[in-house]
Amino acid sequence: MKYAQHISELVGNTPLVQLTSVTKGLSATVLAKIEYMNPGGSAKDRIALKMIEAAEASGELQPGGTIVEPTSGNTGVGLALVAQRKGYRCVFVCPDKVSQDKRDVLRAYGAEVVVTPTAVAPDHPDSYYSVSDRLVKEIDGAWKPNQYANLNGPASHYESTGPEVWNDTDGRVTHFVAGVGTGGTITGTGRYLKDASAGRGEQDGGPVRIVGADPQGSVYSGGDGRPYLVEGVGEDFWPTAYDPAVPDEIIAVSDADSFAMTRRLAREEGLLVGGSCGMAVVAALRLAQRLQDEDPQAAADAVIVVLLPDSGRGYMSKIFNDAWMRSYGFLPAEEGATVADVLG
Ligand code: PMP
Repeated sequence: MKYAQHISELVGNTPLVQLTSVTKGLSATVLAKIEYMNPGGSAKDRIALKMIEAAEASGELQPGGTIVEPTSGNTGVGLALVAQRKGYRCVFVCPDKVSQDKRDVLRAYGAEVVVTPTAVAPDHPDSYYSVSDRLVKEIDGAWKPNQYANLNGPASHYESTGPEVWNDTDGRVTHFVAGVGTGGTITGTGRYLKDASAGRGEQDGGPVRIVGADPQGSVYSGGDGRPYLVEGVGEDFWPTAYDPAVPDEIIAVSDADSFAMTRRLAREEGLLVGGSCGMAVVAALRLAQRLQDEDPQAAADAVIVVLLPDSGRGYMSKIFNDAWMRSYGFLPAEEGATVADVLG
């Protein structure tokens, strides 16, 4: 009999799948790493597991302790999943702009969710930041993973995501593309792939090139923190989990392009994924096009791996909702199909 003793044992070892429709006209092989196949539905399961195990080892997290983190999404699910297995309490703080659906998901896993008002200054006692700091101080045995500053985030990707990409491509990956949020994914995976390929000759592709994808307006691509709608990526500050020496380049992508590609991935590739996935794929395809323009032979030999962090299920009322898309001008004004349209 082959079985896991708990779902949290199944984190990682996600598959690669070739993109064959959105890549038409491009000669590079483009492979997507499907992180929604993690038990909690995103790449964040990896960092949750590693951050908790490291905190146990260092004594920061003691038996019966409480995990307190300001998070509204994927990291919360990963932490809740691992905490449940290990008997920790989870308290997550999220601003009231976070959808009821997302809060309900966290509660479904057994976490407690404290909701804070969005419309207050960061130093206000009710703010997202103040409330989580106060909870950490006041709850006995509280530990805050702090994914933005926790180096076990990138370490988890160095130990799992990086080797998976290298092994599954038989060491033939030439480029790795990922969105940058905390920076953990690109830093850890990128560092591993650079180390693994350091001695590879130019005829075999040379060292793997690491390409970050970033929403237009975010600091990673030279922006000033101007708002954008794609979730989970881009920042208005530089997190410690991000090592800017790892990426060889950063490609900025607009919300409109990210969302259009996210919809195409569902419709043409059977991949119902989130907006940061569409963004990363746009960056990967621009890279493939540029390689082809510069050196058609090298482009034909290129193996581009693009990491897709989560599923599209969490975005049904946004990216996959025509009215929402139209309200931001991402879709032209247009009514739904009529019987006459369908019958031609
Ligand atoms: N996409 C989504 C949906 C995310 O939640 C995150 C994590 N913030 C990322 C991409 C970026 O990953 P990282 O934090 O490792 O840079």
